[in-house]
Amino acid sequence: MRGWPIRSTDFSPLMTQPPRYHSATCLHEAWHAAVASANHLPVLRVDCLQGYCEIAWPFEPEGLQEAFRDPPRAHRALVATCGCIAAQAFGEGLKFPGKACPWTCHDARLLARFAAAYGAVPARLLDYNRQPHVKPAWETVLAQARHQVRTWSQRPGVPLALLALASQLAEAGVVDARGWQGLWASALCAALR
Ligand SMILES: [Zn+2]
Repeated sequence: MRGWPIRSTDFSPLMTQPPRYHSATCLHEAWHAAVASANHLPVLRVDCLQGYCEIAWPFEPEGLQEAFRDPPRAHRALVATCGCIAAQAFGEGLKFPGKACPWTCHDARLLARFAAAYGAVPARLLDYNRQPHVKPAWETVLAQARHQVRTWSQRPGVPLALLALASQLAEAGVVDARGWQGLWASALCAALR
């Protein structure tokens, strides 16, 4: 829908309803963006009004086959990508997809696309030096992603910093790449970096 995003200044004093942000949405997007930045993946936009976070993935699912010509590098990038996609569920130790995010939600559908693309990558991989690599099971990739996010989220100060970040995002409504870089570099995000 065009005309969005609206900002708080668009509301005249006569309007009794201030813009509403669902705090659960802001926290969810904070998880996505923070895990992405912690993994050095560029965050392009965090939109708490429409509820999405745009991240520059190292590759699209369609590019997985090509990326796996460098298996160790592709594996690390895929683990980071899966961690970003399921950031909140993995960080909070929840099932994914699960109650909060069923198969139909955007995140679960994106993860399913990566799962399908990974399934099509040959089981026996050769790198540029013709060295053989064994492709780990998809479950292993997911378990490593979950472990990484969980370990990161249990560091001191992370849960509180995520909440503080969520309220900053709520105040901003929409944050572009530059705005996010500023937020990420601020003292608020020190515990997350
Ligand atoms: Zn999400």
